Amino acid sequence: MCMKRSPLAQLFRSSNNLRLFSLIALVLLTAAIVTPALAQDEPQYPIYIVESGDTLNSIALKFGVTTQDILGINNFDNPNFIPVGAEIKIPGYEGITGTLTTRPVELGETIVSISEQYKIPLPVLLKLNRLVSPDEIYTGSEIIYPVGGDQKPFNSSIRGEDGITPLEASVLNNLNPRFLSITHPQESSWQFLSTDVAFFDSPGDGQYANPIAREIVKFDISPLPLVQGETIIISIQTNQSANLQGSLNGSELHFFSDTDHQYYALQGIHAMAEPGLSDFTLSGKFSDGHEFSFSQKLILKAGNFSKDPVLYVDPATIDPENTKPEEELIQSVIKNATPERMWKNQFSLPVDEPFCIYSYFGNRRSYNGGEYKNFHTGLDFGVCATLNIYSPTPGIVVFAGPQTVRGNLVLIDHGWGVYSGFYHMKDIQVKVGDRVETGTIIGTIGDTGRVTGPHLHYEIWVNGVQVNPETWLFDRVYP
Ligand SMILES: [Zn+2]
Repeated sequence: MCMKRSPLAQLFRSSNNLRLFSLIALVLLTAAIVTPALAQDEPQYPIYIVESGDTLNSIALKFGVTTQDILGINNFDNPNFIPVGAEIKIPGYEGITGTLTTRPVELGETIVSISEQYKIPLPVLLKLNRLVSPDEIYTGSEIIYPVGGDQKPFNSSIRGEDGITPLEASVLNNLNPRFLSITHPQESSWQFLSTDVAFFDSPGDGQYANPIAREIVKFDISPLPLVQGETIIISIQTNQSANLQGSLNGSELHFFSDTDHQYYALQGIHAMAEPGLSDFTLSGKFSDGHEFSFSQKLILKAGNFSKDPVLYVDPATIDPENTKPEEELIQSVIKNATPERMWKNQFSLPVDEPFCIYSYFGNRRSYNGGEYKNFHTGLDFGVCATLNIYSPTPGIVVFAGPQTVRGNLVLIDHGWGVYSGFYHMKDIQVKVGDRVETGTIIGTIGDTGRVTGPHLHYEIWVNGVQVNPETWLFDRVYP
């Protein structure tokens, strides 16, 4: 017998071997058919990365599933201790892949627009966010959505204008209408509402349209959510001159500009404003004649304030007969928003160092055992260095004189609706109309008016509302 036959020929030598070959071929063929089918059937889950403070229970609650469901598809060494950073498969979201992450809902976004942008069916997105209806989501709230999975978001959008077709909109937005027809094939019959946003994929990096107006290049409102006692800055960059109006939490906004096509409005949020939803409106007209108007509810969060012990003071100083005229006088002085912005840098300390703070802004207060319906409207500096009081930034003195509650009082206008107030001064060394610079001495620390001891009460007003001065003194430069 020739021994040089190929192994394959040897395999065919007997009927036994032939049967073996058939079996192997069948197994291989079956494997070839079954393997891709298995891959398709294998369930895909979105991933959640464990954060500090998470437990199996809190994760189950967060995604509306049971701990048993999570345990059923994950292998934990110890379910009572899931390390921060561990990747957990989340059941119950068929068709969703990638990592579940959160980001705040931005101005102009709705859950519908987010579902379109990320190509996630609305019911899935609602379930993921534990929402019963699309109306439950507001600017500044956190939204859970998947990133890095199969559902890549559209990279571009255009916004709707009344009565125009997507074709016209694409021309206005310098887009090739061909890319639009991908998502909106019946463009001739399909019209935008002014609040609509259409998403699509454009070649290259793409760009999302501003949801408020096409002339707006950049829009920012911060901080979001709004916080009691904080200064909110609304910054709008446009591609042409604009005349802007608006309101936030009941206050009329004043927009100012000291650079071409860049507008700012600053607004204080009252320290006792009701947490929940706050109204924001914006409207305007551009130099090309186009007008727009926009409104959306924003989330307003409580600030982190503590309760002061009950303060006992001369009853005359809390009698509305004395306090009301004084409050009205101050309101009348600080209500004007001067178009010149006089500050450039962060505010300086109004006292010498080392400084000490006796009481913080926002503390809830009760006078003579009454209800805690008042709050501390400024920052109290004790006497820990010299008695000198300085202007923290340039401005113009708009009030200087004695008052019942505030004692010797100075008010300085810094422009754009921002004012400084200095209370309980021993003596005043400036007069109305004086232009002061950073560091100009305006008087000395005293104990005049409603006080329990000598200190400087320093406060900042932003568009008619007292705000936390710490942000201006220690944290940031506005705008
Ligand atoms: Zn005070």
